[in-house]
This record gives sequence, structure tokens and C-alpha cells, in this order.
Amino acid sequence: MHIHIIGAGVIGLTTAYYLCEKGHKVTIIEQESNVALGASFANGGQLSYCFSDPLGKPGLLPKLPGIALNRDLAIRFNIPSSYESLRWLMRFAANCTEKNHGKNQLQLAKLSLSSMSLLAKMRDHLNLTFDHQKSSKLALFEKKKDFINEMKSLSLKQSLGNDNKAISIQEAESLEPAISNLTKQYAGAIYSESDEVGDTLLFCKELKDWLIKNGTDFHFETQVIELMKKNSKCYGINTNKGFFETENVIVCAGSLTEKIVQSPSPITSARGYSLTLPKGSVDLDVSLTLSDQRVLFTKLGEKIRVTGFADLFCKEVDDDKRIQELMDIAQDVAPELADYDSSKIDSWSGDRPLTPSSIPCIGPSKTEGVFINSGHGFYGWTLSFASGKIISNYF
Ligand SMILES: Cc1cc2nc3c(=O)[nH]c(=O)nc-3n(C[C@H](O)[C@H](O)[C@H](O)COP(=O)(O)OP(=O)(O)OC[C@H]3O[C@@H](n4cnc5c(N)ncnc54)[C@H](O)[C@@H]3O)c2cc1C
Repeated sequence: MHIHIIGAGVIGLTTAYYLCEKGHKVTIIEQESNVALGASFANGGQLSYCFSDPLGKPGLLPKLPGIALNRDLAIRFNIPSSYESLRWLMRFAANCTEKNHGKNQLQLAKLSLSSMSLLAKMRDHLNLTFDHQKSSKLALFEKKKDFINEMKSLSLKQSLGNDNKAISIQEAESLEPAISNLTKQYAGAIYSESDEVGDTLLFCKELKDWLIKNGTDFHFETQVIELMKKNSKCYGINTNKGFFETENVIVCAGSLTEKIVQSPSPITSARGYSLTLPKGSVDLDVSLTLSDQRVLFTKLGEKIRVTGFADLFCKEVDDDKRIQELMDIAQDVAPELADYDSSKIDSWSGDRPLTPSSIPCIGPSKTEGVFINSGHGFYGWTLSFASGKIISNYF
């Protein structure tokens, strides 16, 4: 079959890989001038196979009014002014119940675990490097209550094969001595030995080269305007560079997906920020999540990537201010882990495509011939392998 993919982020590219593997012809249409210039560009790089919880959880509901009043540094949103954003928020709130959170957590845990073996196979097959490392991961908790809450879901996750375990701070320090240089006191940590890291941008570039060698056509600087349909069946794609005749389309357009096709679970954008800095005076090998601040530290090659925050429904976002806030937190909590005074600091912001449940949409749309692989939220890099494989099985 000849399949057209819209979007050359990590989701579009992994989708293309699994379709190529099955012998299909693939054409990718991308509005930017190269791959991974959207949310996949400078993300946290964490392959969080064992730590991919949904954003919506019971403890978050009581915090929503404070978040709406901008009292929470990590999550921000304006009171939704459109029907679409209000609908998203209502559905998000419904996913914060104990029952729905548990269901979503399980589904994400299954998807992310299956990505682990799929990436291992892909690396063997394609010989990719992308600063990949078996880093393992530590999530640190300042409040005992949050640590205990986190421990509640461990046995469920472990029953799926997830190797998360709760450890004391002394144990965490013996695994990663850099923790003793942090300025906060911690109640405990969750350790995931099998978590990995890798640079998504490098991965996308390496995969693009393989895809081109294996017959995939890329059309860059080509913006999809609309999908053409007759009697609820797709017959082509209208773009600013002309018409593409096709009956098989997969929309992998990240946070812009809804502009092209209506997704069964609405996708909004959760803007996040990153800093890429030279290493500091203390080495970091394990990837770190500061759960209280929702800030991640990842070692990617010779650099440190710091990521964090989620801004929803914010009409005017002050990127510079948010990046400075991220820098201030990182420097305050982990002054030795990066060189914050360097002139070689790169900053970036990107829009995560987020559904109310945090579960991505992977499957057919209402229009015959049009499929969606989008809405991967906070863990699109991690989930890309499992979701690329799943969507390829429709063809
Ligand atoms: C700060 C931050 C940190 C993160 N950290 C991690 C992490 O540590 N681990 C992890 O697993 N995930 C992480 N993520 C999440 C992950 O980066 C995203 O979920 C993932 O990149 C989404 O990929 P995508 O391909 O769906 O979207 P994108 O990368 O945004 O790709 C979509 C593409 O579609 C194109 N497109 C859109 N509309 C059109 C159109 N009309 N015509 C043509 N092309 C179009 C866009 O130009 C874009 O290139 C992080 C995200 C952010 C922002």
C-alpha cells in the first residue's frame, strides 16, 4: 500500500519505520524544513519505560483552583475561554478520579514497557546511536505523603514487568552520589533500573536517513490545509504545495492534529521548556526527576538537559520568563550539576500534544482511510515505538 503520513516528528517517523518494515510505500508531508522541529526537538530525552504516569491524578483535583490562580510554578493554565478548551478540562477532571487514573496508568505502563523491547530491536536492526544510554532513573520525593502515594501503584506496575522499586535516600545516594549535592531534603526515591535516555532529535535525523535509503519520500515545507473526502471517505490531501492523491493517511501532527482531523479524544497543547547546558562540577549518570518541581535532569552525551513545566490554554506565553524560572529552579536545587554561567546554553520551548486521559489516540478516525497517531503528551519519545507498531498493524 502507499500510505501518506502528516508530520515528521518522532511519532510520524517511527510510524513510517514500522510501515516500511511491512513493505509499504511511505510519503511524509511536513510543514517545517526538516524532521523533529516540533515537540520532538529538545525534549527531556528520557525513555521512561517504567515511569509514564498520566498527568491527571486524584491529588491534582484539589490543586486546580491554585493552578488557575498561577500559584503552581510547574503547571499553569488560564481559565478556558473556548468551548473546546472547557470540554478538554472537564474530561481531564473526570480522568483525575482514583478509578480512571488507575486505568490510564495501567494502559500507559503497558504501552511504555512494550516500547522498551521494540527500541532494542530497532537499534539492533538499524545500528542507531543517538547518544543512547542505559542510564536508569531516580524520581525523588520531598514529601513523605507523596512518596507513600507513589508506592501504592508499584505492585500493580511490577506485575506487568516494570522494575520500579522504592528506595531510601541513602540507597539512592549510593546509586548516584550526585544526589548528595542537591540542596533539598528528600523522603525517598523510586528507582527504575531499566529506564534509558537518548537524544530524540539525533534519533529522528538518523531514522530519516534510513527511511530515505529505504524508499520513503519526504515533502518538507509543505503544509497540509485539509483532507479531501467524499461520502466520508478520504481521496486526497490539499497542501500549500498542491494536491496529493491518496486513500490512506495517518495524521501524526502532534499538538496541531485537531486542525486536520477531529480526534476521538481531544488533543490540546501543554507547553514545556528545556535548557541544554554544559556539565557542571559534579557528574550525573542516572537520569533524575525532581517530582515536587516536575523538573527533569538528563545527561545526553556530554551535555545536561533540564526540562519541565506544562502550560495549558495560555494565550500569551512569555517563553523567556518561563525559561528563566526553569533555570532558577535548576540552579537552586542542583547548583553543581550544570554550568549555569556558561555562554553555551541553549533554551527551547515545545508543545506536547495532550489528551485528557494522557492516553494517545492510535487508530482510525471517523473518515474512512484516515488514521490518527497522536496525543502522546509527556511521554511521546518513550511511547513512539509501541504506538508506531500498533498503528502499522492497521495496514
Ligand atoms: C519540554 C518537553 C520535555 C519532554 N520530555 C520528554 C521525555 O523526557 N520523554 C518522553 O518520552 N517525552 C518527552 N516529551 C514529550 C515528547 O517530546 C512529545 O510527546 C513528542 O515529541 C510528540 O511527538 P509528535 O511527533 O507527536 O509531535 P511533533 O514532534 O510536534 O511532530 C508533529 C509534526 O507535525 C507537523 N505538522 C503539524 N501540522 C502540520 C500540517 N498542517 N502540515 C504539515 N505538517 C504539520 C509539525 O510541524 C511537527 O513537525 C517532552 C516534551 C516537551 C515539550
